[in-house]
Amino acid sequence: MSIRPVKRLIKAKPTLEGAGVHLRRAFGFGNTTDFDPFLLLDDFRNDIPAEYMAGFPWHPHRGIETITYVLAGTVEHGDSMGNHGTIGAGDLQWMTAGRGIIHSEMPEQQAGRMRGFQLWINLPARDKMTAPRYQEFSPERIPAFEVTDARGGSARVKVIAGRISDTIGPIVQPATEPLYLDVALDAGAGFEVDLPATHTAFVYVFDGTMRVGTGPAAANIAAPELAVLGPGERIVLEGRAADSRAILVAGRPLGEPVARHGPFVMNTRAEIMQAFEDLRAGRF
Ligand code: MN
Repeated sequence: MSIRPVKRLIKAKPTLEGAGVHLRRAFGFGNTTDFDPFLLLDDFRNDIPAEYMAGFPWHPHRGIETITYVLAGTVEHGDSMGNHGTIGAGDLQWMTAGRGIIHSEMPEQQAGRMRGFQLWINLPARDKMTAPRYQEFSPERIPAFEVTDARGGSARVKVIAGRISDTIGPIVQPATEPLYLDVALDAGAGFEVDLPATHTAFVYVFDGTMRVGTGPAAANIAAPELAVLGPGERIVLEGRAADSRAILVAGRPLGEPVARHGPFVMNTRAEIMQAFEDLRAGRF
């Protein structure tokens, strides 16, 4: 069983998005081939309301899916299909933009805190123009399990997408087979997961420090930092500080050309131009 090495480390970069939201972007700039089928990961942890209150007012998307996972605070959401709601701590939102959605996402603090992530997943060419869909899952619909090691250290895992043996997360997408775990580790506690060797995989540590991999190819990852993993069959994590926490994300690469302009991600420039034209003509 080969253990996945750490291929590259990335510190999340301060980025200004939406109507003036200060967030940290782990990836999503320039060429994102290394992350295929994933396109972007934003960490919107912020303790200063003035830096995110303006939010992400009405904007379109086409050709992608987004997973928004809130840890603290709330995000009010409305869209062109008539959905409206507020997601809060522990909630999950899965949006399939498909052929087009226009929505707004407005973060708000709760007890002074705002934390969460938005991950963009590409859709394969055959599904880019699928019907848009919006789904929301409350914390009790996100299965969790705990593994305790011989020394009493524990790993607490929430399964947001995909499957870990008998535990199946609420988001199941056969096109890209995403696995999305929220992993909390005590210092010294370990967690291991097997998945297909060719899946893209990364670990974004957002609290504490974790050791990723084993032997010379391992690295200590201190929050907020992302490790891109090389090929292998097993992912090995170990907590190196109390209450270390990370999201572990993996998926099957699409290997298709990516044409991207802001919130539209298609396969060709012509399809991007068509998206602008459809938006102007009110076909979203
Ligand atoms: Mn959006």
